[in-house]
Parts: sequence; structure tokens; C-alpha cells
Amino acid sequence: MTKLTQTSRRDFLLKSSALIGAGMILDPMDAFSIGQKKSWTVGEIMDTFISQVPNGPFAQTVDTIKIGSRETVVSGVVTTMFTTMEIIRKAIDLKANLIIPHEPTFFSGQDETDYLQNDPVFRAKYDLMAKHNITIWRNHDYVHRMQDDGVRVGVVGDLGWNDYYTPGSRILMIPKTDLRGLINHIKNKLQVPAMRYVGDLNQSCTKVLLLPGAVGGRLQITQIMEHQPDVLVCGESNEWETPEYVRAANEIGIKLSMVEIGHSASEEGGSEFVKNWLNKHMPDLPVHHIPSGNSLQIF
Ligand SMILES: [Zn+2]
Repeated sequence: MTKLTQTSRRDFLLKSSALIGAGMILDPMDAFSIGQKKSWTVGEIMDTFISQVPNGPFAQTVDTIKIGSRETVVSGVVTTMFTTMEIIRKAIDLKANLIIPHEPTFFSGQDETDYLQNDPVFRAKYDLMAKHNITIWRNHDYVHRMQDDGVRVGVVGDLGWNDYYTPGSRILMIPKTDLRGLINHIKNKLQVPAMRYVGDLNQSCTKVLLLPGAVGGRLQITQIMEHQPDVLVCGESNEWETPEYVRAANEIGIKLSMVEIGHSASEEGGSEFVKNWLNKHMPDLPVHHIPSGNSLQIF
């Protein structure tokens, strides 16, 4: 690396900051290394992302490496919701050796694999990645805990609701529509063929409580209690929790609806967010966002 004088280094910093874009909090040393850097290891990508997350790194997190290593030099990145076999094959075709999924790789929250070692499904997936030196870094907790939740930012954008969004807020006041219109809007924007709902399709909806993913019945219900929205729009919910609460609310005459987008579609915008983040901070790195879709089909 060429040694720069104080002056030229300052010029360089100004230029690289301009390239990287306004509105970002930058450590000057980071800007310096970002501008000069041509290759990245998995660990450097992780550390740079985590450095922008308040209180990161976390002592307890599911955002660990599931296969591969920090030392791997990254040839390309695929961001997605779920690392399916199809996503792994596409990554191999794209010569991308780092996959950053939002959700588990091995079918449970902590990605426990002790009970799966001799299972053909696990083996096929694991061995394919091992053979092609793929590294998996789950990015769930960190992207959610960015200064503004990167998943929510991504999904709000996908829904075309940026104008109704207040950073940090789960409540959006959208132009008045009925539940039928709202469902059609979401189906169309997120390309979801059908969604399950509770409530009255003719109910008027303005105040939306947006909770992507599966945050759990208790949080969904306490947020409904706190905000009293017209409609909860969520990723998914156990059938015996929030849907029953919303049904009971309707049975006593409260105008309240809920719509389940499906987990993947409700958070896929977060994987686009991670892709955009990588493009911005590591412009030389080839990055692809590939939606993994929903495993559950509709017949
Ligand atoms: Zn999530």
C-alpha cells in the first residue's frame, strides 16, 4: 500500500467518503481501508457489519458461522432468507463462496446438528457446501439491531410505504383502504400468491402494525394492545396464539384484522438490505440477492 502524506490522505478520505455516500457515520480509518481494499475475508466482512450495530458484538447471538471459516477470502456473496439446496447451487454457479442467510441453515434456531449427523437430508446439504468451500454466516440479530432495523427498512421499501414510515416505528398510517385492498397490495408488491387473514375483508384499514417474521404471539398481542391498530401485518404466527386473539376481538365487536404474509416474503427485504449494505461498503465485492421463496406451497 502506498504511503500517503497527511494532505493527500485527507483528500483521499474526502473522495472516498463522497463515493461511499452521505449520511453514514464513518471511522476515518475504515474509510481508508475500504478505499484501498480489494479483497475481503469472511471475518472482515462480519466485523465491519457488526461495527455498525449498537452494542455489537453480542455475547449471545445466533449469528455465527455455520460452516466454513472467518479466514476464507471471499470470492462473492449471496444474501437470502433460507440457504436451500437451490441457493447453494446458484452460489456455486456464481462462484460466490459466502452465503449470508437470515434464517437457520439446519432447521432449528440454534442450528444444532448433533442429531442430524447421519441424516441424508442434512448430509446432502452440508457435504455440498463443504465440497465447494462455502462459508455460511447467519445475519439475523445484527441486521435487526442496526440503528434502524434493516429488515423493516427493506420490507417497508418493498411495500412502497417509505412515505408512511417513521424510522424505528412499527406503526404506519397508510392511505385508507379496506382489508381486501391491503391484501391485494401486499400480494402484488411482495409477489405472494395468497395470504391467510383473520377479520372482515371490508374493514377499513389505515393504521398498520407491521411485524415481519415470527416475533411470537405475546409480542404481537402486546403490540396490538399498545397501539390498537386496524390491522396487524406479520410474517407468521402460531395458529393458537394471535389468530385466536384477533378472532376473539372480532367476536366482541372490535374492528381488528391480521394478515400473515409468510415468513420469507415478510423479511426478504432484509436480505436486499444486506446486499445493498455490502455494495456500499465493499464495492469491489460481487454480491447477489437471491430470494429463497416459501417452502409451503398453496394448492
Ligand atoms: Zn428476522
